[in-house]
Amino acid sequence: MVVGDVTTSTDVLVIGAGPGGYVAAIRASQLGLDVTLVEKGEYGGACLNRGCIPSKALINGSKLASEAGHAEELGIYADPTVALDEMISWKDGVVDQLTSGIEQLCTAAGVNLLQGTAEFADENKIRIVHQGEGQGSESLKFENCIIATGSRPIEIPEFDFDDERIVSSDGALNFETVPDELVIVGAGYIGMELATVYSRLGSDVSVIEMLEQALPSYQEDIASIVRKRAERLGVDFHFGYTADSWTESDGEAVLTAVPADEAAHDSAIELTADRILVAVGRRPVTDTLSIDDAGVETNSQGFIPTDSRCRTNKEHIFAVGDVAGEPMLAHKGSKEGEVAAEVIAGEAAAVDYQALPAAVFTDPEIGTVGLTENEAANEGITPVTGEFQFQASGRALTANRTEGFVRIVAEKETERVIGAQIVGPEASELIAEIAAMIEMGAKLQDIGSTVHTHPTLSEAIMEAAQNARGKAIHRRN
Ligand SMILES: Cc1cc2nc3c(=O)[nH]c(=O)nc-3n(C[C@H](O)[C@H](O)[C@H](O)COP(=O)(O)OP(=O)(O)OC[C@H]3O[C@@H](n4cnc5c(N)ncnc54)[C@H](O)[C@@H]3O)c2cc1C
Repeated sequence: MVVGDVTTSTDVLVIGAGPGGYVAAIRASQLGLDVTLVEKGEYGGACLNRGCIPSKALINGSKLASEAGHAEELGIYADPTVALDEMISWKDGVVDQLTSGIEQLCTAAGVNLLQGTAEFADENKIRIVHQGEGQGSESLKFENCIIATGSRPIEIPEFDFDDERIVSSDGALNFETVPDELVIVGAGYIGMELATVYSRLGSDVSVIEMLEQALPSYQEDIASIVRKRAERLGVDFHFGYTADSWTESDGEAVLTAVPADEAAHDSAIELTADRILVAVGRRPVTDTLSIDDAGVETNSQGFIPTDSRCRTNKEHIFAVGDVAGEPMLAHKGSKEGEVAAEVIAGEAAAVDYQALPAAVFTDPEIGTVGLTENEAANEGITPVTGEFQFQASGRALTANRTEGFVRIVAEKETERVIGAQIVGPEASELIAEIAAMIEMGAKLQDIGSTVHTHPTLSEAIMEAAQNARGKAIHRRN
């Protein structure tokens, strides 16, 4: 059907149905506003289709395979065979279930759904181009707009994603077979999570990283625990190198990496691979929106600066999620989506990032929230820290996973908890307790004197809090 260029109107226009946009749309509709949500691709955005959910499905699948194959210490002898195509089909089923659920949730909340690509015509009007030949376009006037167009993988020169051997994370979540040799460019969290998946599934994985550390945005003592475990899984790291070019030889890709320090240019290395994954970061999707026509400002990297109420430089246009900048995390986008909707509805909402947790689903996992000791000191806060090693946790021993620790950071004078870093088993779950404590303004004693179930990993949080007060029972203070 040709829609033509009919102009309709809406109170709130949301562009993009990822975790930022669909949450904003549902909340705005719950608050009694007339809401239209425009999506050019799949409901659920990167998170559900190409990010959090599919990657965690493969992380879980590969964990089962790896643990089953390496449990001799526990008297278990198994040699699992992995049919990657079946694991991918199972993962796709999980994705389908969740994405269709999003569509239903939006419809049930009364959100008008429109399929198409949105582009600003001016600061109160959007043009929506419908996909497919002869599908036409329509225009929509809006009172308020929430931009939630997300991000896409960054390409690097010489490594275009149009060759099937060169893939972004999107491609690496859909391999038909386990690559024999996988080279990953970038040791950030996406590169490291996928290095974990494919090394557990049997690929020879090499990682090239221009800096001298894996997971460079994490503290060295945390990142090194994950790197050492990855090395035990067989991952080969080349730090201080950048991927320069690649050629084809006997059907394989041969990648040349050069030292990031140009003075050492003569010691280039070559790595062969049947697949090369480029995971060097993501850029915001603002370049395809005709955003200048709405007068919305972007910074030099294309992100949309916003205030604590998610407002752009235009009072009635909001930006949430990846497009509004780091940290590019699904739950940060969802929180901002809720806040933007509430602000539009006249509520006194604002985003407070002090209790925003982050997790990396490597082996072992990382969970962080709030400030590190150094960040606190840089902000003029005198910190006190407490730690507890999983080696001393009965539960960690029974799970045969004892690497890592819990570290709690508090303000020395008041003992108010301001941050935590966990590396170890289930860190992604454990960090939620400390996020809740920070949100509630808890002090070390509140955590330390809370009775924790025994034997659980969460006892390590209680012990770390008590250690900060010189009162841990199961370690020397
Ligand atoms: C491999 C991988 C693993 C990840 N793992 C995690 C994790 O474990 N935890 C976590 O918190 N985060 C994770 N992330 C990040 C997470 O996916 C993003 O932070 C999150 O999806 C951002 O949500 P968003 O709503 O801002 O944007 P997106 O999810 O990117 O959604 C944006 C939507 O906007 C649509 N769109 C874009 N332009 C237009 C237009 N002009 N018109 C109409 N529609 C448009 C797109 O089609 C898309 O559906 C991961 C990402 C990747 C790639």
